[in-house]
This record gives sequence, structure tokens and C-alpha cells, in this order.
Amino acid sequence: MTKSSPAAQLHPVGAGAYAWIGADGDSNAGAVDTGDSLLVIDTQQNESLARSFRAALADQLGKPVRAVVNTHYHLDHVAGNAVFAGEVPIIAHERTAEAFATLLGANGGRGWTVTDLPTKSALCYGENFSDLVANDAAARAEADHRLSEPGYERITIVPPTHTFSDRFAFHLADEVVRLGYFGPAHCDGDVVVHLERAKVLFLGDLFVHGRFPWIGDCDLDGWIRVLDTVLTFEIDTVIPGHGPPASLRELGKFRDLLTALRDAVATAIGSGASEDTAARDVRLPRYETMPRYPEWIGANVRSAYRHLRGRRRG
Ligand SMILES: [Zn+2]
Repeated sequence: MTKSSPAAQLHPVGAGAYAWIGADGDSNAGAVDTGDSLLVIDTQQNESLARSFRAALADQLGKPVRAVVNTHYHLDHVAGNAVFAGEVPIIAHERTAEAFATLLGANGGRGWTVTDLPTKSALCYGENFSDLVANDAAARAEADHRLSEPGYERITIVPPTHTFSDRFAFHLADEVVRLGYFGPAHCDGDVVVHLERAKVLFLGDLFVHGRFPWIGDCDLDGWIRVLDTVLTFEIDTVIPGHGPPASLRELGKFRDLLTALRDAVATAIGSGASEDTAARDVRLPRYETMPRYPEWIGANVRSAYRHLRGRRRG
């Protein structure tokens, strides 16, 4: 039998809430029906997928887009901004705009075209990517493969038109959509999108469901703290940055995975292991059957090691 991968699809996930679930763990996006228009959450990992997402919104919901929210700066969630730009505001945390300027240079908000693999990798996997995978052929190959597929040759990054530092809200007729920033976590600038009435959370890559995450230049303690905070919310459905919709219970299991990684690396540091030794020896048998575990465990141990030692680079 030939293995076929299902295309991305738009799913209703609560009152007025829709999730666009990427195929095979590709990035997710979302939309909120504001009554006469749509609020879009993230814009996909290349312009071709962004156009498919936009066409599905038009075909299935038939309302104009009023605003776009970026959950964070990573390429696979913002590379479709260009497909929506010019007509509507793009809203993100101020650290997202700062990350673009740091990685791509200041250019007065006009946007950037990215064609080289190292810059694409830093935009997708974090600033310390090349350093983390310097001696890790498996992790580098996985990332290089993904960013060399058709559709990624030329990535246009359109920065946010509006940023906020703490909280932002859309007060709709029968819904309040709250954007919250709870500190550095998966990256710095992660936005939690909370639909209070529908009890839906869009978490971007604060939650990766169904595969082992790439933790890159995250703040691991901050990430666990943010998840502990949102786990106290009254929520029916959580939309991860990758993978199918889930419950708070499944989000709790993901928090436990991050905690298990942190604790295993802390134990290795406590026993005097070097970073190289920890990257070679620290393993999480409970999670080893998850997709991407073999490719990413070593680099994730390095990332956690550096975080716990108070540094991000080698
Ligand atoms: Zn991300």
C-alpha cells in the first residue's frame, strides 16, 4: 500500500474557533469568527501552504480576514504573513519584532527575503541552531531536509505591524480573545491565544503534540512555568503548534516530558558530566518511540545543559 499523507484541513474546535491542522506534523494555524470577519492565528510555513489556508477560510467560512496574530517568530509560523500583509494588521509580541531585527537586520519594517539555509535554520530552529548541531549530523540532516523542500527556496518575512508587551484583547460581541505573554519559554515572544467563552487555547509551539519537540534556544524553566500557568485555565481544547488538537490532560503530559528532560540533564550535571558526555548518554526511555526522538534528543540535551548552566551557547 502506498503511504499517502493527508492534506492540511480546517476543523471546527469550539464556538467560532477553527484549527488548520498541518499535514504530517507541519505547523498549525487557526481562525476565530468575529461575527463579520476572521481573526487569523499564524500563517503557515511557506507561502504555498498559506495560500491553501487562506483559500480554505474563504471557501468554508466566507468572511474577510480582519487581523493576523503571530504566536512567535519561527519561520514555520510566520512565512505566510506576506499572503495576508498589506490588507490587515499583523499583531505579535514585541520580542517577535526584535527577533526578526536581530536575525535579519533592521530595515524599517519593510520585510526581508531569505534564501540561505543558515538564516532559514536560525529563523526556524532558534538563534543557536548551527552551534547546537555542530557535531550532530542526524539533527542537522533533519532540519536541512525540511528547509530544502519545494516551497522553501525563497522565504519572505513580513514583520508585525503592531506589537504589545504584556496583554492584548479583542472584545467581540460574544467572545473575548485574549493574547497573553508569560515570559521567555519556547522562544522569547510566545503568545498564548485564549478564547474565554469557547474555552479554546492556541498555544503555538509552547505545545508540540505527538512528536518529540525541538527545544533549541528555549528557556526550559520558563517554558515549564508557562505551561503550569495555562494548565490552571478552564479549557476544553488546546491547539498545539504541531499535531492534532488536544486536551489539558495531554498538555500536562507534554509538560511532564519537558520536566523529565530537565531533570535528567540536571542529574547529569550534578554527577559532573560534561556537555558532550551528557549529549551522548542522557536518554529518556519513556519517550524514545516518539517521532523525532532519535534525531533530536542529543541536541535537546545540549540545549537543556546550557540553559541549566546559565548559558545558551557552547
Ligand atoms: Zn517554534
